[in-house]
Amino acid sequence: MQDKWKLATKVIHAGHIRSSSGALVTPLCQSATFVFDSAEQGGERFAGDQPGYIYTRLGNPTTAELERKMAALEGAEAAVATASGMAAVSSALLANLQHGDHLVASKAVYGCTFSLMTAQFLRFGIEVTLVDFNDLSAIKEAIKPTTKVLFCETPVNPHLDVFDLDAIAKIAQANKLVSIVDNTFMTPLLQQPLTHGIDIVVHSATKYLNGHGDVIAGVICGSNEQIEQIKYETVKDLGGVLSPHDAWLILRGLKTLDVRLARHCDNAECLAYYLLNHEKVTKVYYPGLEGHSGYPLLGTQMKRAGGVIAFELNGAMEQSLQFINSLTLFSIAVSLGDAESLIQHPASMTHSPYSEQERELAGIGESLLRISVGLESVEDLISDLEQALALV
Ligand SMILES: *Cc1c(COP(=O)(O)O)cnc(C)c1O
Repeated sequence: MQDKWKLATKVIHAGHIRSSSGALVTPLCQSATFVFDSAEQGGERFAGDQPGYIYTRLGNPTTAELERKMAALEGAEAAVATASGMAAVSSALLANLQHGDHLVASKAVYGCTFSLMTAQFLRFGIEVTLVDFNDLSAIKEAIKPTTKVLFCETPVNPHLDVFDLDAIAKIAQANKLVSIVDNTFMTPLLQQPLTHGIDIVVHSATKYLNGHGDVIAGVICGSNEQIEQIKYETVKDLGGVLSPHDAWLILRGLKTLDVRLARHCDNAECLAYYLLNHEKVTKVYYPGLEGHSGYPLLGTQMKRAGGVIAFELNGAMEQSLQFINSLTLFSIAVSLGDAESLIQHPASMTHSPYSEQERELAGIGESLLRISVGLESVEDLISDLEQALALV
């Protein structure tokens, strides 16, 4: 029965087990440890001979409900919640890589994923090759006998590039590689990588899944076998475990994910067209616009284009900074997926660790700006953009 539910129903009901009190809402089980009825029972739980909770780093009833719900939404056998999106990315990768292994990843990835792979992994003898994931032959050419994992996110900063998940999954399967996709920008409501043959999905739940800007969290979804290993080895031993209170907040946020995303996408489409037609805007990057690399996959791989837009102003860095300083409704902040509309300047903020040359290669100009479109009235958002654009 649950399997047949639409995603709008699943975000509310999937994975829910009514508590003995009859409470409508999942109770928050804010306990670090769990008491055994007897010494024998404790021993049996540790041996795995009897189900039941032991210690919250190994599992917690509130967190378990979030994990069941996320697995149902992504169409996965299982899921594990983590303390941050980066804990999800690092745990999923480390569970599948060891010293001497090689990883092929998209050269455009989230900033900390980039430094994890290029700086941290290097220290542990894990090698990485970064390629343009739009170029399928470049991916194939980068694969070596030691390659174990393919990793990408789609759409991805800074230009919202979209990659073909069917094609990437096929390459992974043909070469017996584990494919991992960061689905943060889309959420399972707009894109389900596992249905395209991808093995593991990771999320920063900090963004749309929670949706209220008050939690840092992550989730990993995949097969029972993969999640068992990630949960009871990597996450357990590295310790990036989600707090039950944060799991409870995300469960609350998830209930409105379907209605929130509809508004995020509606607003973003309006703003993308508004910006496209403004004389002071030279370029708009949004997968919902014809001509964008993601447009052909709209309606198949991605249900809608999401709530993030990048654009370039006709001017130098000074004008871009003056523009965002003049906005009154948009907040100048990184992150995305919140009720509040946010704007940031990648060259000096999210991509500031890049050298000038690396920025140029990645196409991150000094006039590039990124918006996470919020849930406000789109007329008020356009008025705010209008008055600030008039000033530059
Ligand atoms: C924010 C983000 C992350 C990192 O998540 P945290 O919750 O901040 O650790 C990873 N990937 C993408 C695409 C993100 O937007």
